[in-house]
Amino acid sequence: MPKSAMIDIELSHATLTYLGDEQPIFSNLNVHFESGTCTAILGPSGCGKSTLLRYVAGLLKDKVHFGGQLTSSPEIDIAQSIAYMAQQDLLMPWLNVIDNVCFASKLHGEKITPNITKRALNLLNKVGLESKAYQAVSELSGGQKQRVALARTLMQDKPIVLMDEPFSALDAVTRYKLQNLAASLLGGKTILLITHDPQEALRLGHQIVVMNGTPATLHPITPPTNAVPRDIDAQFASIQQQILTLLEVDNDTAQ
Ligand code: ADP
Ligand code: MG
Repeated sequence: MPKSAMIDIELSHATLTYLGDEQPIFSNLNVHFESGTCTAILGPSGCGKSTLLRYVAGLLKDKVHFGGQLTSSPEIDIAQSIAYMAQQDLLMPWLNVIDNVCFASKLHGEKITPNITKRALNLLNKVGLESKAYQAVSELSGGQKQRVALARTLMQDKPIVLMDEPFSALDAVTRYKLQNLAASLLGGKTILLITHDPQEALRLGHQIVVMNGTPATLHPITPPTNAVPRDIDAQFASIQQQILTLLEVDNDTAQ
């Protein structure tokens, strides 16, 4: 498979129950993740967003009962085609910035060739951190660490990118800048972006779904019509209100 492959993912009638539990976490999810687009998945804490992402990443196979289908077009091993970026910068504090960016290569036992170093420096340049390549990650700010995490995600050059609340620990301005950066650098990939922030979903989602209820189901939201990353405008307010109303319903039933 060429690394630049475009992969569509289809989840149909997906129901997932952790082994030992009676109640499914989610039930009868149907969603198409189109290549070259970002699907923003919103939902209250605990509704099953990370579970969904971890299942797609192939991390839960022996821990759950899964009904339904997870397929890709073209047919590939989805788990092998994924780069993952999480909220907590999963950086290795004892490594410097560039070694963190090259971490996946190191993990696979690859030799860090001058070409790999060149690619890593090029990506660090794109996220504005080339000058910090040989600095310890522990010396970086939260926003800088997430930019390293973004460079590392890009370094893996996978067609599918799963992002689990990647920007939620950041202040509003840093988050805004990183959203723009991610949108410009991740173009062409199939992106699943989990967020609890309606505004983030509206800025970045070509497709937006709200996950709620027990077991959780998915509710599509019609996104604004302009191109991503979207700036906040009047249309945002009314869609944001629709999303908040859906999120609120779940809180009420949980109490
Ligand atoms: P979210 O990411 O939306 O906050 P999670 O997917 O982390 O939600 O969790 C959804 C539900 O699944 C929670 O009730 C959580 O306690 C439960 N859960 C998460 N991991 C496991 C596990 N390994 N075994 C059993 N239950 C789990
Ligand atoms: Mg989560």
